[in-house]
Amino acid sequence: MKLAALPAFADNYIWMLHDGVEAVVVDPGDEGPVIAALDAMSLQLTAILVTHYHADHVGGVDALRPRLRGPVYAPAGETIPEPNHPLMDGDQIQVLGHRFQVMDVPGHTAGHIAYVQQDAEAPLLFCGDTLFSGGCGRLFEGTPAQMHLSLQRLAALPDSTQVCCTHEYTLSNLRFAAAVEPHNAALQAYTAHCQAERAAGRPTLPSRIALERQINPFLRSAETTVVDTALAQGASGRSGPEVFAALRRWKDNFR
Ligand code: ZN
Ligand code: FE
Repeated sequence: MKLAALPAFADNYIWMLHDGVEAVVVDPGDEGPVIAALDAMSLQLTAILVTHYHADHVGGVDALRPRLRGPVYAPAGETIPEPNHPLMDGDQIQVLGHRFQVMDVPGHTAGHIAYVQQDAEAPLLFCGDTLFSGGCGRLFEGTPAQMHLSLQRLAALPDSTQVCCTHEYTLSNLRFAAAVEPHNAALQAYTAHCQAERAAGRPTLPSRIALERQINPFLRSAETTVVDTALAQGASGRSGPEVFAALRRWKDNFR
């Protein structure tokens, strides 16, 4: 099974999985890059996976239907172009012969879901706008406590899990991460790596869960340095949700 990041818009990736014959895509906000990739490799589109209802994630769904032989999987709690196959936490789907589990990860939107494939050597996570490399999605509909819990569930996935986020926000996220943890050596090394990747025109993604646990401040709300920084930024206490809330508020206004 091959994984490809199809660039879309200014900074989106539409993730494509394929086996050389059949393909699935995640969050096709634009049909153009998907059709180009299907044609270039003579692939049959057999499923679309949607994480949440925002236009940059579903805008290409209807235009892809003539090419689609299979379902549009979508979060049950959101308004996604019909017809679709609604999914809830714990549901399982078969994609290209591999089993994916559905996780509810509210916070960015109320009904946001993630797709996890755990039974391979290199597990896969499609997390939409919940977890980004070095950061996390904005809280449009959820509470900080909800998002904190969603991110903790993702952080508990196996170390080697490939983190397939929908946006190339890594470098700007890492500038904020460095403000939170100026002395995090793993963060400094990763930042240098990502700068080189972007300079060469390559994606910084997918990331890995083990790496995110080392460098992503939003997964590190239990670290003493992060707690102290959050308190200095006005956190109401030292608990995970309180530290997370202060970091998220700070990041919203960070330049
Ligand atoms: Zn979104
Ligand atoms: Fe988005």
